[in-house]
Amino acid sequence: MDYLVARQRMVAEQLVGRGITHHRVLEAMAKVHRHLFVEEAFWGRAYGNYPLPIGEKQTISQPFTVALMTQALELEEDQRVLEIGTGSGYQTAILVELGAKVYSMERNRTLAIRARRRLESFGYDDVWIRIADGSVGWKEKAPFDAIVVSAGAPEIPTSLIEQLAENGRLVVPVGQLRNQVLKKGTRSGTSIQWADLGDCAFVKLIGQQGWDS
Ligand code: SAH
Repeated sequence: MDYLVARQRMVAEQLVGRGITHHRVLEAMAKVHRHLFVEEAFWGRAYGNYPLPIGEKQTISQPFTVALMTQALELEEDQRVLEIGTGSGYQTAILVELGAKVYSMERNRTLAIRARRRLESFGYDDVWIRIADGSVGWKEKAPFDAIVVSAGAPEIPTSLIEQLAENGRLVVPVGQLRNQVLKKGTRSGTSIQWADLGDCAFVKLIGQQGWDS
């Protein structure tokens, strides 16, 4: 299988074709070897428009969703990003490619260690992975220019709002267990402006400001 061709087709058909316009997001997704973030048995399907298993009953989001969330973060070079739900580390890699310093939280130890090792092996330096409940954020490292949550929350975690910098952007799926709405909040002073980015289906955010288990 020619993975370069598969990646280019993914960008053209699933991202540009569905309205992703941010050039640097498209470049990053054309560059990062998505297949190396899933188990070898799934390499051939890594560039299709669907989530794939990454172990521990978790999934890597479909490419369009990763692109949509990353685009919504409106990142500039050297910004500080908090990511909740490292999973395979794929979205983490995309964020680092965009010049972000990424603080990534993952509650599942096996996935966190695997992702850390994987990102190190690809030479990504600007990433710190912490094994902990990310629903309460990472207070010691706040404020963040952007926060992205890749697990579905029953309500918007208030700790994350508190850890946003001025003009900071929060992207989080909120709703029921099986379907949520992807919400984007932008902080301005003490208020937040909300926008809906569309329907989505994430695995659940488990923790103090998420689901029980
Ligand atoms: N963006 C990832 C996929 C994330 S899947 C990727 O590119 O591969 C969602 C992840 O969120 C799972 O790994 C799950 O273990 C993790 N998760 C769920 N609740 C969490 C919490 N409260 N804190 C940190 N991680 C959490």
